[in-house]
Amino acid sequence: MKKILFLAMIFAIGINQVYARDYAELQIKEMKHAQKYGTTKQYLNKKNINYANQNLLQIKDPKIIKICNYNEIPEKKYEAKLQADEKQYKVFEKELSKKSLNKYKTQANGEDYYKVYRVAEKLIRANNLDYLNWRIEIYKDSKDVNAYTSNTNFIAISTALFDTFSENEDALALVIGHEMGHALLGHAQRKQKIVDIMNHISYNVGLIKYRIESKNMEYAADAEGAKLAFRAGYDLNAASEVMRYFGTLPREKDWRTTHPDPNKRLKNINDNAKYFPNDWTLVGKENIYNSDVLKVRLSSDRKSMVISASDKKENKDGYFALETLEELYTRLAYMNYLDGKFAKAIKYFDKLFEIDQTNAAAYLYASYASEYLYNNTKNSKYLELAKNYANKGYQLDSKNKFIKEQVDSL
Ligand SMILES: [Zn+2]
Repeated sequence: MKKILFLAMIFAIGINQVYARDYAELQIKEMKHAQKYGTTKQYLNKKNINYANQNLLQIKDPKIIKICNYNEIPEKKYEAKLQADEKQYKVFEKELSKKSLNKYKTQANGEDYYKVYRVAEKLIRANNLDYLNWRIEIYKDSKDVNAYTSNTNFIAISTALFDTFSENEDALALVIGHEMGHALLGHAQRKQKIVDIMNHISYNVGLIKYRIESKNMEYAADAEGAKLAFRAGYDLNAASEVMRYFGTLPREKDWRTTHPDPNKRLKNINDNAKYFPNDWTLVGKENIYNSDVLKVRLSSDRKSMVISASDKKENKDGYFALETLEELYTRLAYMNYLDGKFAKAIKYFDKLFEIDQTNAAAYLYASYASEYLYNNTKNSKYLELAKNYANKGYQLDSKNKFIKEQVDSL
């Protein structure tokens, strides 16, 4: 009886409090939440990517390290090629925009497909990915901003994602590049192995592995996608609108999800982009210049589009190849070196030398980096290191005048 009275009193006091409430106070409380969760604020919180400042430091760079090969295309010639291509695109724009597509229950309009085609086609040509037919579907889902890939060359984009970023080509390029990245990196195959563990060995062990590896694969696909988009000349700052957008969506606890926190994904893209050499955009330009517009048609079921492989390439070197570990180490080392991060540069050069002892130029740059560290610290171990690297370079290529100079000067 006492208990009931007590509860009734609380209830009564509660009601009184509601009557006495100043709703402006509620607004203060809500504003505190809004400051924390407000999507506009998160969305507009643009973080710029800091590209390596290649010419800021006056450090030795005889440019004998090769991280990419290309022939620079004169701007005028490149512009003329783009204009010529534009005529061909007009034909495909007309074909894709035909009204008759809709009677086959195509999920998106022809003009939407045309928009996605233009972005994907540029990515494909800039990166020599035209060795197979790429298939792209814009599927109907008004709510879920999503995209996925399967079967090596199939990419699906939800109408919600397309509509959200339809005016931001850079963002579309990053999304398509990300999905291409999954395909190029063989993630479906890797996931299947983990699914096999879940199905046949231990579901729980497999599941934990799945969540961890899946996140790593997302980071890898983001980095690869950013690379593809960067080479095709897209702006990664504008593209990262995608990650800022995902950052505004509700998320499950980290350990329970397969995708990393979008803020971490954005940082991953920025961290990787710091080591993208500007020359990559020239590689992309050269590839576009030396290729023809890729044909596009609706798929046989009229639900997706097929961007046809080119038939001009006989030379297998003209096709996309993933960066080898040697190339990656060389790039990370070289870009860190140019950025004046000498210790980090040496760390990556050493990783390279663990698997490849034939790169004379790399030994020379490792020697330069050690020499700078010696100059900065006066620690004699760096001078020894500089001598060792230079000598190794000399053993490999005694005719190189830069290596000879370095050996003599130390
Ligand atoms: Zn993904």
